Amino acid sequence: MLNIVIFGPPGSGKGTHSVKLAEKKQLYHLSTGDIFRSQIVNKTILGLEAKQYMDKGALVPDDLVIKVLLSTLENQKDAKGFIFDGFPRTIIQAQKLDDELNKKGIPLKLVISLKVNDEEIIKRLVKRGIDSGRTDDNEAVIKQRIDVYNKQTAPLLDYYTRQNKLLCIDGFGEIEDIFANICKIIDENIK
Ligand code: AMP
Repeated sequence: MLNIVIFGPPGSGKGTHSVKLAEKKQLYHLSTGDIFRSQIVNKTILGLEAKQYMDKGALVPDDLVIKVLLSTLENQKDAKGFIFDGFPRTIIQAQKLDDELNKKGIPLKLVISLKVNDEEIIKRLVKRGIDSGRTDDNEAVIKQRIDVYNKQTAPLLDYYTRQNKLLCIDGFGEIEDIFANICKIIDENIK
């Protein structure tokens, strides 16, 4: 069982590399953002509630996010492992993830943190907003999401450093080069 968190600010490439890694290693890709977006499209109660926070660039409350985690773990019992993308984003979420995985005897192995500066993040996300129509990819909300990342999510870097699980990768450059670095660092660190 291989469980990995792909960590980083919005626009750091978490989604892109999580998809590639999940495919390469045959792992289940759990993106809480993707799950919320699909719930919004399907107009579920969870989707309607999450949307209020996502539109403002705020975090969806921990209890809703944790529900998504628990139901996914429950529904994917046959998975060979998980790539967590955009989750956890708070200390409470990280502790819950540890509790659940440890209870199952399948602890988190690694957290790969993608480093990208704010200027590049804003450039990438404004472009993604234009290309995809994602409503939270506009400059005002992007700035809010970066702020939320710095205040609520970046403290997890310390949390995982203390667990000796954090590995940092330069997220600036060509996708294939970054992905090759991610694969190399995983192979070097997982026996
Ligand atoms: P993402 O697709 O990961 O960029 O997430 C888009 C938005 O969904 C975020 O800005 C949050 O509003 C919400 N979201 C996704 N994952 C989480 C999470 N783990 N905790 C709280 N909010 C989340």
